[in-house]
Amino acid sequence: MAAQLSGSAHASRPTEALVDLAALAGNLRAIRRMLDTESAAAGRTAPGIVAVVKANAYGHGAVETARALEAAGATMVAVADVPEGVTLREAGITVPILVFGALSVSNPEGVFTHDLTPTLSTPGAAAVLEREARARGVELGCHLKIDTGMHRLGFRDDHLQATLPEVLRSPHLRVDAVYTHFATADDPKRDDFEHQRERFEIARERLAALGVLPRLAHAANSAALLRDARTWYDFVRPGLLLYGIVPPPLASTLDVRPVLSLRSRLVAVKGLRPGEHVGYGFRFTAERPCRIGVVPAGYADGLDWRLGNRGFALVGGRRVPIVGSVCMDMLMLDVTGLDVAPGDEAVFIGSQGSEHIDVREMAATIGSIPWELLCRLGSRIERIFRDQQ
Ligand SMILES: *Cc1c(COP(=O)(O)O)cnc(C)c1O
Repeated sequence: MAAQLSGSAHASRPTEALVDLAALAGNLRAIRRMLDTESAAAGRTAPGIVAVVKANAYGHGAVETARALEAAGATMVAVADVPEGVTLREAGITVPILVFGALSVSNPEGVFTHDLTPTLSTPGAAAVLEREARARGVELGCHLKIDTGMHRLGFRDDHLQATLPEVLRSPHLRVDAVYTHFATADDPKRDDFEHQRERFEIARERLAALGVLPRLAHAANSAALLRDARTWYDFVRPGLLLYGIVPPPLASTLDVRPVLSLRSRLVAVKGLRPGEHVGYGFRFTAERPCRIGVVPAGYADGLDWRLGNRGFALVGGRRVPIVGSVCMDMLMLDVTGLDVAPGDEAVFIGSQGSEHIDVREMAATIGSIPWELLCRLGSRIERIFRDQQ
């Protein structure tokens, strides 16, 4: 049974992203089971799960996704910035919301008005938050970010003695957790992942020496949590894996299923004579009599221009090539030899019959990564939420 939870009353476009919230909850539980089983075997407490829902939940729809993850037992959810957190609070999300992004130059008001947990990643951010917390007469719980080698956000692990005392003199800030982020957890050929983990360990000792004893620590994105249980600490922070995709090139036996599928319909089917061309730039030429199916989805919907003459869709239970350039609002498929008609389904991500195209494959086809393809799914594509099998 498909329960449409939002915005479908005026649905009229044939291109839809089906978001399977039951699969999403199942993925969270699969991760939960693995963490529980392996932690019990190692005689340690199992970590909580910070479910990462930044960037509109990797294109899946932040509010519905966060609701489903909260109901399925996520300890916390994480967003990129304050406005994303405010949106979730206004939609009624009640679990703690961690904001990953830097706050030093943005307006931190929402942190206080919407009960968000900010990241202290620069001395400037700490100063702004301390000033605001003092003005409001509150103590603000924060997570402290340590840069262990990625050199993006965070206090450098080898410079804490110089940078932290300022933060520690902030009586209105309470450091509840310390965390870091791995740059190469999905690259099994490199040992930088191990170096970052060691640097995080040393940083935690330095923090203790400075008198900072946060209750909690966290470090693991999807790839790290699959690769090394020593990165689990008190929380893990999966994103991609929750959406049912194992970060390439890793493989896993974990029972996760892709949450999103992307479907449209043929709106026209026509014949081509040998020598005739298709689309902008005439980048496809029929070498024999062909049938072309036109689909009303293009790069404005997130179907990358580079899929032209490279990517595939599923029509009539078969894999068919995308021919010619992908247009802004349309693309063309070679459906020669198939008994198809306007109205027939075309699948870009997902299954049809026994055929399947996943985001990893689509990303590899154009030299991108699944994270990017998912969050670039266009805003005009309606997300249809299904919460039962
Ligand atoms: C995006 C992000 C994650 C989740 O990464 P995945 O590879 O999708 O699991 C975890 N932690 C931080 C800080 C992030 O920015």
